Amino acid sequence: MSVAPAPTAAACGTPPRAVLRERGQHEVFCGLTGIVWLHRKIQDAFFLVVGSRTCAHLLQSAAGVMIFAEPRFATAIIGERDLAGLADCNAELDRVVTRLLERRPDIRMLFLVGSCPSEVIKLDLSRAAQRLSARFMPAVRVLNYSGSGIETTFTQGEDACLASLVPEMPAEPGTARSLLVVGALAEVVEDQFLRHFAALGVGPVRFLPGRRAAELPAIGPGTQVLLAQPFLGDTARALVGRGATLLPAPFPLGAEGTSRWLGAAAAAWGCSAEKLAAVTGPGEARARAALVAPRARLEGRSVFFFPDSQLEIPLARFLARELGMRPIEVGTPYLNRAIMEPELALLPETVLSEGQHVDRQLDRCREARPDLTVCGLGLANPLEAEGLATKWSIELVFTPIQGYDQAGDLAGLFARPLARRARLEV
Ligand code: SF4
Repeated sequence: MSVAPAPTAAACGTPPRAVLRERGQHEVFCGLTGIVWLHRKIQDAFFLVVGSRTCAHLLQSAAGVMIFAEPRFATAIIGERDLAGLADCNAELDRVVTRLLERRPDIRMLFLVGSCPSEVIKLDLSRAAQRLSARFMPAVRVLNYSGSGIETTFTQGEDACLASLVPEMPAEPGTARSLLVVGALAEVVEDQFLRHFAALGVGPVRFLPGRRAAELPAIGPGTQVLLAQPFLGDTARALVGRGATLLPAPFPLGAEGTSRWLGAAAAAWGCSAEKLAAVTGPGEARARAALVAPRARLEGRSVFFFPDSQLEIPLARFLARELGMRPIEVGTPYLNRAIMEPELALLPETVLSEGQHVDRQLDRCREARPDLTVCGLGLANPLEAEGLATKWSIELVFTPIQGYDQAGDLAGLFARPLARRARLEV
């Protein structure tokens, strides 16, 4: 298959898709959850949550299956204080950080992560980060961002973290061209993409976040940004603010998404369609072969997405176009049209909802009785009890799903709940 850039709605002359906007109670994890995958990815960073016991419990249970000799996250628990107690609070935070950095000389970057308790909101973490950075320069950089449930849903924690890194990136001298792939990816996936970019003649290629936070990539007017994750709107804006150019593309999920994503970088580097087809052909063929078995189970089945990770639109596009599923409703917590336009151009007609009113959406889901419902942990159990097959959306964030060689695993994540339900019904 040869790959052309995805048509945009404007290019096709089609009106923008109607979106059902919901504003009500929503059920989704907070941005602290991102620490679970970010601390594994950035190997010289430490995440210090400034929060309550609830925050500590969330992190422990989210990361509970992993045992660390030297963990790279912790919670500084801030008890109840009035405003007069804030000076003590800052001194205590400084003491905790000093003790941590003395004990752990391997830490090169420390993130102070804000949360929702009112005592934490009163603390100015950005000033604390500046104060501590000045004290520990040049050995350790101290940054801050918010993972609070009031401000962030679970994948927005990564967005806030990466956006906090952008001002720290060194300026690229001149207009030297480079590709910056943005969004935490499994190392095996990064290595596969590096091989494809090298074969296409695209480079140098850098990643944000990198494996070592202390080695931040340079950025300038020659930097072309390719988002690997759809939930990075603030980071993308900050990068463009530093002079970079955002390459619009669908996300690298499935054979088609991966080829179009690679194709966007290839086009920016002036790579010919023949060369692109030659480089992407073998990977596409492997991916399509891996999709044959899950397709047999998924084709013609309906799927309903509750809003959760912001991966919903690319996933629905993959399920519809490569596995023959019928998306009934695709919910997303936020719709960033600038980032999502290439995906929307490929998504078949369906109900698209933004935000959440959980009761109304549950009513629509129950009425539709989809074959598969993709939702958060809190909704999955009750829906299973009502006889609906569900897929936990959080698993899609923890599992490597990008690229040709993960397409079969990605499809398998959706096929398994249906196989399990079929066994139960037998
Ligand atoms: S940040 Fe807020 S929502 Fe998240 S665990 Fe802490 S208290 Fe709960």
